[in-house]
Amino acid sequence: LITQQSQEELYKVLKENLRLQETGDENGQKVVVVSVSPQSRASLSAKYNLSVLDAAHKLTWFLKKLGVHYVFDTTFSRNFSLLESCREFVQRYKDSETDKTALPMLASACPGWICYAEKTHGTYILPYISTTKSPQQVMGSLVKDYLAGQLGVKPNAIFHVTIMPCYDKKLEASRSDFYDDLYSTRDVDCVITTGEVDQMLIKEGLNLAEVESLDLDMIVPGMSPHDLINHDGGGSGGYLEHVMKYSVAQIFGQECGQLKYKTLRNQDLQEVTIEVEGRPPLKMAIAYGFRNIQNIVQKVKRGKCPYHFVEIMACPTGCNNGGGQIKPDSGEETMKDRLQHVTELYNSLSTLTPDCVPGIEQLYTNWLGGADSDKAKQMLHTAYHGVEKISSALTITW
Ligand code: SF4
Repeated sequence: LITQQSQEELYKVLKENLRLQETGDENGQKVVVVSVSPQSRASLSAKYNLSVLDAAHKLTWFLKKLGVHYVFDTTFSRNFSLLESCREFVQRYKDSETDKTALPMLASACPGWICYAEKTHGTYILPYISTTKSPQQVMGSLVKDYLAGQLGVKPNAIFHVTIMPCYDKKLEASRSDFYDDLYSTRDVDCVITTGEVDQMLIKEGLNLAEVESLDLDMIVPGMSPHDLINHDGGGSGGYLEHVMKYSVAQIFGQECGQLKYKTLRNQDLQEVTIEVEGRPPLKMAIAYGFRNIQNIVQKVKRGKCPYHFVEIMACPTGCNNGGGQIKPDSGEETMKDRLQHVTELYNSLSTLTPDCVPGIEQLYTNWLGGADSDKAKQMLHTAYHGVEKISSALTITW
């Protein structure tokens, strides 16, 4: 698994493509696709002193120079993760009248948290975890199903790599749930951390700030390749922000405007409450880092969790602080300085709500056959298991 999930594996596939090209055997070549996370882009921007847009374009040039065919942005797949989380929450809220495990809904985008929950808390906690796939795994569905269909190739003709801020994403990609038995292929074949991409640049003798630029690819036409967007609500994707705003509109029929976060024991534990006259208040929280997660899990176990939804992330301050991000060189810059810089860069893009992003509605209709279709469930949702189905080849870092 460790060799499968490294830059060496990508180099191997690119080398084999080149060999086949030289021998004129075009058929055996893989279509190589790389999907880049917004947190990784912000980390590269910080190291090379680039704007986020410049870093995105220069990284695209670098990857294509190596032989990659398509470079996408995982912010696009996050639109689906956010929309599905919103819909799932509203359904669970309705179900909670009869189903005791419908709420609180616990977010599912962080594999560090998911593995901890599966390994440590057995089946008790699993029903509370949102079934919505993370942005990485929705990107896997988009690439191996939608893009493969558009290109007229089988899913196993594509080698799909993601660039991510943490090592735990390698473990997520290797879950059996994301393996296609029919074509013997994974939705995400290989995960490379931001730091590993930086090692690739160093190996090639390149400084990202000095290389040329190329536009990113768009999985559906609509957005300009010169635009990059972000979502409101912090470095881990803004799940609480979107779920709260959507739910207040759906459940209370009101707009809730800007959310007011109340800090509890520390910055990584915050709550938002929305009150509407005559209705029980809607309460949600973010809980980042191991201590805060343990606290929430214990409350859920005792049936004393006061929240309807909790955005849970394993890393303190969230994904911009992932263990796979680029560390500052030994010098004056501290880890704290770097994180602040990465966060500023991450927040430098303008934001859109997921349902306004060009292409999303079109994909719900043309690719999935509607938001409630079986295909939408298959492509955008997953399930959780006891420890036996999880690969133990990687250890989780807490
Ligand atoms: Fe990875 Fe940390 Fe983000 Fe979880 S919070 S997905 S472990 S970077």
